[in-house]
Amino acid sequence: MAEEREKSEGKLLEEKLLWKFSHIGKKGREQVDEAADFCEGYKVFLNEGKTERECVAAAKRMLENAGYRRFDRKEHYKPGDKVYQINRGKSILATTFGEKSLDEGVRINGAHIDSPRLDLKPCPLFEKNEIAFFKTHYYGGIRKYQWGTVPLALHGVVVKKNGEMISIAMGEEPNDPVFCISDLLPHLASKQNERKLSEGLKGEELNIVVGTLPFQDEAVKEPVKLMILKLLNEKYGITEEDFYRAEIEMVPAQKAVDVGLDRSLIGAYGQDDRVCAYTALMAEIETQNPPYTTITVLTDKEEIGSEGNTGMNSAYLRHYMEDLADLEGIPVRDVFRNALCLSSDVNAAFDPTFPDVFEASNSSYVNKGCVLTKYTGARGKSGANDASAETMARVIAMMEAEDVCWQAGELGAVDQGGGGTIAKYVAQLDIDVVDLGVPVLSMHSPFEMVAKLDVYHTYRAFRAFYKR
Ligand code: MN
Ligand code: MN
Repeated sequence: MAEEREKSEGKLLEEKLLWKFSHIGKKGREQVDEAADFCEGYKVFLNEGKTERECVAAAKRMLENAGYRRFDRKEHYKPGDKVYQINRGKSILATTFGEKSLDEGVRINGAHIDSPRLDLKPCPLFEKNEIAFFKTHYYGGIRKYQWGTVPLALHGVVVKKNGEMISIAMGEEPNDPVFCISDLLPHLASKQNERKLSEGLKGEELNIVVGTLPFQDEAVKEPVKLMILKLLNEKYGITEEDFYRAEIEMVPAQKAVDVGLDRSLIGAYGQDDRVCAYTALMAEIETQNPPYTTITVLTDKEEIGSEGNTGMNSAYLRHYMEDLADLEGIPVRDVFRNALCLSSDVNAAFDPTFPDVFEASNSSYVNKGCVLTKYTGARGKSGANDASAETMARVIAMMEAEDVCWQAGELGAVDQGGGGTIAKYVAQLDIDVVDLGVPVLSMHSPFEMVAKLDVYHTYRAFRAFYKR
């Protein structure tokens, strides 16, 4: 071995002045193993929660097991107490009370638990040429052509005429049937191949095959449809009218799995944004006696613009914070002004196969840690929150104090597209907020990929956030 040469003046100056985010895997093998261990629980959460309602149920179970009680605004709480509140079964808030008064600051961490999917239309079932189908209306931003020939599972709820609510899940157990959207064979696709990719499969072509056998009676006009209704009635006691009192979501049936010979990635449906929901929830649960009161929010409807009364563009977070402020008898606006919020959502990881839509020096990369996103939006930052330098400084300082590996990234190159998160709705409350989350490959596809090291460091960032 040659002696280590003395570093040149230029090299030393480079070390002092330049900044580069590095691959976490180069730092030490133990981090890879720690991340893999942490992600085993994450995979279970992904498989348990494929809809916002299922995620709320899973989160409630985890919180109750950790000693959280339902929030009661008539109760008295002391530092260290833990509570949760559910909004209409589709979003959930959790709090660990801190040492300091609420108007000295609270720590809010908001992630979303809805993901792009195919919802059944209110009148979904039809028969054509002796095949029964469900008609769907896509929810959130999907590339429609990606959803054909993918095994789908059926999840949802039905409120029966008598008011009873039943849950439906089919396509997840090993012996369950799955469902599927058909596509053309290449032999006959020459005309379809001429279509724009955005119309590879059109919205009204997202019809899901649900059965092909007829009910045996010549007098019946649509015997295959009737057979499906008979089977649904036997299993769930529902009729066609009940679809009008239902929310049924078709999601990929695939379970979360490791990707790569080195098992460095996780492939699964719905990681935007359950990857931040799970890491936020784990950080919340493990936080004991924090200086500032925590508010972990797992919200709904982000994928369609945070609309509706379970989305962040409603008053439910404000009302919860008002209830907390009332406990101390202080105006909630004083709580807002000094609050700090992480809008915890994913960003697009640089994809070497499609480098043109990214700007290499301002993109996030897999395995470089959680990504801090100063602004999202489109064109000239339209629709962005655009966090202040002061907010960036506070969050970076928290992460660096706890050795969290972080990086910064924009959502793609300028004028390539864009997107938004819950950040701007939190900012509307007069709260400091910045986006932070996990870089994702193939975002919004039926099979999204994230790096385990990034998941782990996002969790560590959230722990640091609640610690300081
Ligand atoms: Mn998201
Ligand atoms: Mn999304």
